[in-house]
Amino acid sequence: MPLGNGDTPARIESGIDYIESLRNRNLRVFLFGELVEEPVDHPMIRPSINAVAETYDLAIREPEIATVESSLTGKRVNRFLHLVQSPEDLVAQNMMQRKLGQNTGTCFQRCVGMDAFNSLYSVTYEIDEKHGTAYRERLEAFLTTMQERNYVVGGAMTDVKGDRSKAPHEQDDPDLYVHVTKRNEDGVWLKGAKAHQTGCINSHWIIAMPTMRLGAKDKDYAIVAAFPVDAPGITYIYGRQSCDTRSMEGGSIDVGNARFSGQEAMVVLDDVFVPWSHVFMDGEYEFASMLVERFTCYHRRSYVCKTGVGDVLIGAAAQAAEDNGVEKASHIKDKLVQMTHLNETMYAAGIASSHQARATKSGVYLNDDMLANVCKHHVTKMPFEMGRIAQDLAGGLVSTAPSEKDLTHPELGALLDKYLRGRADVPTESRIRILRLIENMTLGRNAVGYLTESLHGAGSPQAQRVQIGRQMKLDFKKRLARRLAGVDAGEDE
Ligand SMILES: Cc1cc2nc3c(=O)[nH]c(=O)nc-3n(C[C@H](O)[C@H](O)[C@H](O)COP(=O)(O)OP(=O)(O)OC[C@H]3O[C@@H](n4cnc5c(N)ncnc54)[C@H](O)[C@@H]3O)c2cc1C
Repeated sequence: MPLGNGDTPARIESGIDYIESLRNRNLRVFLFGELVEEPVDHPMIRPSINAVAETYDLAIREPEIATVESSLTGKRVNRFLHLVQSPEDLVAQNMMQRKLGQNTGTCFQRCVGMDAFNSLYSVTYEIDEKHGTAYRERLEAFLTTMQERNYVVGGAMTDVKGDRSKAPHEQDDPDLYVHVTKRNEDGVWLKGAKAHQTGCINSHWIIAMPTMRLGAKDKDYAIVAAFPVDAPGITYIYGRQSCDTRSMEGGSIDVGNARFSGQEAMVVLDDVFVPWSHVFMDGEYEFASMLVERFTCYHRRSYVCKTGVGDVLIGAAAQAAEDNGVEKASHIKDKLVQMTHLNETMYAAGIASSHQARATKSGVYLNDDMLANVCKHHVTKMPFEMGRIAQDLAGGLVSTAPSEKDLTHPELGALLDKYLRGRADVPTESRIRILRLIENMTLGRNAVGYLTESLHGAGSPQAQRVQIGRQMKLDFKKRLARRLAGVDAGEDE
């Protein structure tokens, strides 16, 4: 099985091993119109790599949180590569996600792959059952290798989509959804582009999946296939983030979070070859909606990761209030209670969804869909309100503070130290650092993960409302009401 470039180690253990495994892959990554020579060393990209590295280091520091016994091999594997065997496994995923959000204050980029493997496992099982194919076996072989090597696998679902009112085959340009252009006895060739791909350049492999329900005329778009990130024919175009170039200015204050950030890029596939061993759906269009629904079911409660990030934001808001000497004011306490209430509301829905999981035919567990959609729908709103409160507590300096270069300037530094001090016993620099972190999370680089990804990731708000609407059992609820109101007197169920 070809596994990326020859330099990739047999097994990755630590965050440092992981970072080294990404070197020398000769990827075609463009940023600001230029080819990036080595993404690992690029100051704008590196913080996103550090965030993924933390998923490895957590597994070493706290194996009970981030590792688990593999259902495939019986060996301990990273939880991001595990097929969930019980509700407890799903709950443990959520606890790990919150922890990683707390440790990084950003998106650590591995949930899409985790949720892709789990949804694909049950869907390939059901495709095989209907069509006599052998997709699940192939997927198991692929996942076993990923577990053994401890690789990062990205899940690429979102196509660029063109005219949203048209199906893939109806688009003027056939490449607006990823599709198969050629097949032979060796495999398939893929063309198209996936948008907003979280952590794609930081992954070792990518699994491309359809993004929507498909019909018979969309057969060539019903493709699920895995390929190494450095496969020939792929171009990555890096998505820039608000305030991203601050990481290229040197210094550690203005960036807000110097160590960690998220990553999104567009992945353009120009006739990328995939051998049959890595194809997990080809033409079974009637299973595309099942895959999208199961994937989003897992993924919408994976957004409890944002509650870990929210813990950081609450801490920063509380610290900012303390640095200003107002922490005892009743409205400040109340606003921190409000932030906490919002944060725990999201967590409650996500973790309840995991607790109420049921086994699929394949044996892998699937969390509760209604509660997953409720969780994600909260996530499309609550971090925005939490960001508003954090900015309220921070004061206007969160968006008007002078730069680090001014703070360290021989003449201006002393002036700013004097005039930007809050409480006398808190160094001005500490105060500014906290404000920059709030800026980073609500207006800067990590607002991409904390706010916009919360809004659109795993589907924009309307996608959850559709799912909630489908499952809200209005007839049942009307019957309850009619019986108690005496409208349906005599009906006793
Ligand atoms: C930070 C970030 C990270 C992401 N990471 C990943 C990732 O790792 N992998 C991945 O696969 N995807 C990822 N996504 C993509 C995410 O799933 C999509 O953004 C989401 O599904 C919305 O698609 P879109 O961005 O094309 O928006 P659009 O589809 O253009 O939606 C814009 C608006 O139009 C509405 N709309 C869309 N279609 C219709 C229609 N037919 N009829 C009526 N209204 C419509 C929507 O409800 C929405 O309000 C990420 C997104 C973000 C922002």
